[in-house]
Amino acid sequence: MSAEGLLVVFSGPSGAGKDTVLKRLMEKEPGIRLSVSATTRSPREGEKDGTDYHFISRERFDALVAEDKMLEYAEYCGNCYGTPSEPIEKWQAEGCDVILEIEVQGGAQIKKKCPDCISIFVLPPSLEVLENRLRRRGTESEDVICKRLAAAKEEIAQALHYDYILVNDDLEPAVDQMAGILRAEKQRAVRNKEFIERML
Ligand code: 5GP
Repeated sequence: MSAEGLLVVFSGPSGAGKDTVLKRLMEKEPGIRLSVSATTRSPREGEKDGTDYHFISRERFDALVAEDKMLEYAEYCGNCYGTPSEPIEKWQAEGCDVILEIEVQGGAQIKKKCPDCISIFVLPPSLEVLENRLRRRGTESEDVICKRLAAAKEEIAQALHYDYILVNDDLEPAVDQMAGILRAEKQRAVRNKEFIERML
């Protein structure tokens, strides 16, 4: 069957619970790799450099872009975020599914560059729930929360451009649905051309 891993764009507004879904998915499904992005934003409490993000300066970020070392990049709420290209191809060649947890501008860039990718958009059950989650997190100032809520509405409007949506109301069902999407994608005939050809 298909030897190469999937490239998965995983987007959704801040507070939709993307991190939680991915953390649980990776506990349940071995063989999934999560790309570690570079960002110019400051680390939040508890975030580790090299694990959550590569926290870098704007100068370093611009240099990486100039050297063509980012698969995609975008500015979001005043900070730059980008996906370092290097590990992605290697992981896919090893047969691992690679997940890019990125916002919608980056998602659109990946769709253009890698049309074979699949895209999943995570939604909260409602905007009220999203706002509550952002406030409960307590990691951002009121100003940042307002910016993120405004950004969330704009992002949600882009959900229709994605292949799948995932409503993160209850964690376990959402994780199971995501695992199901990945499994089904691997069974697509176009991804298994070589297997069929070898059989013939
Ligand atoms: P946060 O600051 O909350 O960690 O992330 C803000 C937004 O940036 C989230 O929607 C997150 O998915 C997105 N993001 C994280 N890494 C990247 C990246 O490498 N590229 C792009 N385009 N967006 C990213």
